[in-house]
Amino acid sequence: MADFENIYAEANPFVRAHFDCPSCGGKLWEYAIQGQMVCEDCRSVYPSDEIFSAQAEA
Ligand SMILES: [Zn+2]
Repeated sequence: MADFENIYAEANPFVRAHFDCPSCGGKLWEYAIQGQMVCEDCRSVYPSDEIFSAQAEA
């Protein structure tokens, strides 16, 4: 019987990102597994690459 570890069991999938929400200015949290960011205030969800490109141009 194969033995394996669930690498997500102990890891917090949310990583605080250094970006602000385009809608409300709240902190965005990167949901690394799905490549998405979630605002902690308004709960809007954005693709990570959209946020990176938008704030790189700012
Ligand atoms: Zn927001």
